[in-house]
Amino acid sequence: MSTPDPKDLPFNSPVVPEMVDGAKTIRFRCRKGIDCWNACCSNIDISLTPYDILRLKRRLGLASAQFLQQYAVPYELEKDGIAGIKLKPVAGGSACQFMKPEGCSVYEDRPTACRYYPVALLSMRKQDEYVDRDAYALVKEEHCLGHDEPRTLTIEDYRREQDVVEYDEQGRGWRQLVLKKKSSGPSVGKPSVKSRQLFFMTCYDIDTFRAFVDSGPFNELYDVPQAESQAMLGDTLESETALLQFGYRFLRQVLFGEETIALHQEAAEKRRAQSREKAQQAEREAAEQMAREEDFRDESFDD
Ligand code: SF4
Ligand code: SF4
Repeated sequence: MSTPDPKDLPFNSPVVPEMVDGAKTIRFRCRKGIDCWNACCSNIDISLTPYDILRLKRRLGLASAQFLQQYAVPYELEKDGIAGIKLKPVAGGSACQFMKPEGCSVYEDRPTACRYYPVALLSMRKQDEYVDRDAYALVKEEHCLGHDEPRTLTIEDYRREQDVVEYDEQGRGWRQLVLKKKSSGPSVGKPSVKSRQLFFMTCYDIDTFRAFVDSGPFNELYDVPQAESQAMLGDTLESETALLQFGYRFLRQVLFGEETIALHQEAAEKRRAQSREKAQQAEREAAEQMAREEDFRDESFDD
């Protein structure tokens, strides 16, 4: 057991919790009628995974862009880097928009962080290793009386009870992308506007990503087998989940050059030639600009 760095915690807590594994036994129960009912949903700071967004937008019958507009706020997952998404509270307040007196109105599709509470999932990464390992922290907040309830269980049992296993599996590809991006550090530099937009669309705006994958320009460049393409372009949960997983592969290819999606060679070569031409053009313009500045300096000194 060890203590995590507070900046790596997925929540804001004045208490730095102890890091534990899934075999750890905890004492906890949340139940209707408890004196603190809804206290946790009255002051939210909940990060959403791409799969959380997918489940919620389906539950509400909204397109992903509409969901983002009404229920989400972006934040920086890392300085000047890629974006994360949080649940947007009620206007002018801090309570969750889904909180009702009888409890959570989207309970069957509630986000990963809500399922886990009061446990927090911490994604860990060993140096030079991009596969995350799961570790947990128990968060004890004063308002939460569930810790005084007479029930004990392991974190693994709690994960099963809260149906969190599927959420973890579906969120894993996204967590690995974020970890890999963070670990590439400032040496790689600030990601371009285009790559940040691609990350946002692919992870959080799945309906727009579907249209992109179904578009002519995408299919001119990427050679996706027809059966795979058909399986992920429908609007069932299964299709959208497959599309999300494909999206993680797509981002690894675009951002980190891990080629797992075949390219149409002719189109790829044309694209590479265009990129080379663009880079050469930028170099020519920079050289011309420098020459103009030098001329200007020479003229100023001659005066
Ligand atoms: S989604 Fe449900 S469980 Fe999560 S904060 Fe909102 S009301 Fe509470
Ligand atoms: S016991 Fe904790 S999790 Fe349950 S309603 Fe109270 S504050 Fe929320």
